[in-house]
Amino acid sequence: MSNQLRPVEILMVEDSPTDRLIAVEALKQALIINNLHTVENGIEAMAFLRREGKYATASRPDLILLDLNLPKKDGREVLIEIKNDAFLRFIPVVVLTTSDAEEDVISSYGHHANSFVKKPVDFPRFAEIIHSIGDYWFQVVTLPAEDAIRRATRSEPAHPPAPPVRVGQALRVLLVEDDPSSVLLVRDLLADSAMAHFEVEAVSRVQELRKRSDLSRFDIVLTDLGLPDSQGLDTYRQVRSCVAGRPVIVLTGLEDEAVGLSALREGAQDYLVKGELTGRALARAVRYAVDKKSIEEQLRQSQRLEAIGQLAAGIAHDFNNILTIIQGQSQLLATAHLTPESATAVNEIVDATERAANLTRQLLTFSRQQIMHPRVLDLNDVLGDVARMLRRLLGAHISLELQLAAEGTTVEADVSMLEQIVMNLAVNARDAMPGGGKLTLATAVVNVDRARATGPDAYPGRFVRLTASDTGSGIAPDVLPRIFEPFFTTKDVGKGVGLGLATVFSVVQQHRGWIRVSSELRAGTRFEIFLPASTTALVTAPRPVRPLAGGHETVLIVEDEPGVRRLATLALTRGGYRVLSAGSGAEALTLWNTHGRDVDLLFTDLVMPDGISGLQLAALLLERRPGLKVLFTSGYSTDFVGGERPLHEGVNFLQKPYTLVNLATTVRARLDAT
Ligand code: ADP
Repeated sequence: MSNQLRPVEILMVEDSPTDRLIAVEALKQALIINNLHTVENGIEAMAFLRREGKYATASRPDLILLDLNLPKKDGREVLIEIKNDAFLRFIPVVVLTTSDAEEDVISSYGHHANSFVKKPVDFPRFAEIIHSIGDYWFQVVTLPAEDAIRRATRSEPAHPPAPPVRVGQALRVLLVEDDPSSVLLVRDLLADSAMAHFEVEAVSRVQELRKRSDLSRFDIVLTDLGLPDSQGLDTYRQVRSCVAGRPVIVLTGLEDEAVGLSALREGAQDYLVKGELTGRALARAVRYAVDKKSIEEQLRQSQRLEAIGQLAAGIAHDFNNILTIIQGQSQLLATAHLTPESATAVNEIVDATERAANLTRQLLTFSRQQIMHPRVLDLNDVLGDVARMLRRLLGAHISLELQLAAEGTTVEADVSMLEQIVMNLAVNARDAMPGGGKLTLATAVVNVDRARATGPDAYPGRFVRLTASDTGSGIAPDVLPRIFEPFFTTKDVGKGVGLGLATVFSVVQQHRGWIRVSSELRAGTRFEIFLPASTTALVTAPRPVRPLAGGHETVLIVEDEPGVRRLATLALTRGGYRVLSAGSGAEALTLWNTHGRDVDLLFTDLVMPDGISGLQLAALLLERRPGLKVLFTSGYSTDFVGGERPLHEGVNFLQKPYTLVNLATTVRARLDAT
């Protein structure tokens, strides 16, 4: 993997300059190639992780070093927020504490911190922790995409996941040992430990293990290798096969330490020599093995999510090109003289591609690949605009009621993302009311104070609340905690893919808001979404004019996908423009040499195969003609967001798939802009 090695992205949240310097030095000594990002307080840390404001282009950290005593937002709160966040919780967090704060260490573990370092930082311990997390973590984040796809499609292991470890809850140890004095010793040593509370249950034979069906409730298994019914490495193998993926530590005698090493090679978490057992060593080994196992579980889960995200984004990107063609060509067809049947058929195609475009948008939002275009808008207007569509979606048997607040409902948001979450909530409400019912969408302006800011994502301030309440089936209490998980669905195959609420969650988070859900079986469900109220005044943007805008200027279209290129050429030619088209940056440059002086607008795809990207092409042509107007298009790629040139949808950027109306209006507006 050496050729794929990249620096480890580390976020350090630490307000003390001295401690920051020490950590930098410790990283250096640990020989870890890293990009260290430092922030000084909890609010900045969350902004960095959620890529807000000046951190819009921040990298996703591979590891977080978190001081617990921070100004503004406390480190303990930051930890809880990270570990409660569907997207962030898989990033390992190493907590930095002062040496006397045993309480802090224990409670951090309770909130799923992955490790801790005591301050002043002890260099070797620090290096050891980073390396040990690194072994399971950093290798994976540097894997190429093909592996991600393979991982995404690989099925889960059959055994149940390890139960999460909580504060105050005992670690359950299963001891496989036939020598009563050893059983007593282990019990005594663990009972005295200050590190955690252990519950020990002992069995004396492998045979006994085979008969039990409750082994998954143990956090860890300790086994002697010399038992009456099994000896040596074979004991380890047999025990392992019985305990459903639980971590196993083997106990060896001084003389058969080599067998312990062999067991390690076959996957044992550790081995301990019986004659050398001390309370601290035993408790630490058990604790470490359990943590390591739980990191592995989290990692597996996170790999799946990341891989699914990459896969989704990749497919959606290509799919958007195809959709642009289908959508555009069928729209062109709809303007031809058709028989009534053909016209209906064409309209069906247009409708279906719209649905497909929505679906890819959903996938991209969920995997955070969609470019977000926030602007100040009135949430009431958004609801008013989608209401008509919602009525169609809900059907005649469900009534829709809007209860809109009189004023103050402005938010800074991406309109299409908001529409999407309203649609998703409405679809769920519809599915929960097969026999009919009522969906109420309400807006309100609410002031949330400290006392009412309950829930992991909530914080005080002024918010616009969107409530969607239905009179449907309700959500069973055991289902409720899972509804925001990606790909969690209770619907039949073909009816739901479980991305709806995951998307809602992701969108709301990207808007710095949060969600509350309450539900009662057979009575209904209420979703409350809190979005920060905007203080900026609302400027109403002019609505796009309906008739297809045209012109007589010359447009240079650069697009590598032939179908999309033909469509755009056809549409703009029909609009009266003169069109030059090229399939790559190089071709565009050749065309420019002969016709450059005529070109009024460069309309180019951002991603192209032959080495010259849309941005580079624009830069080259702008050097030759500084005033040249440029319009970019792309099947949503964030690669370019945050580059030197800001992209604004509808101004200098047109998102694929685009409709012909969009294309015509944006091209016209770009040409008319001064
Ligand atoms: P999908 O709709 O594809 O199943 P979602 O993520 O939108 O995926 O929803 C996940 C699950 O949450 C649904 O399958 C359903 O069990 C439950 N759910 C969501 N909204 C409601 C609702 N309004 N009433 C009842 N159950 C709901």
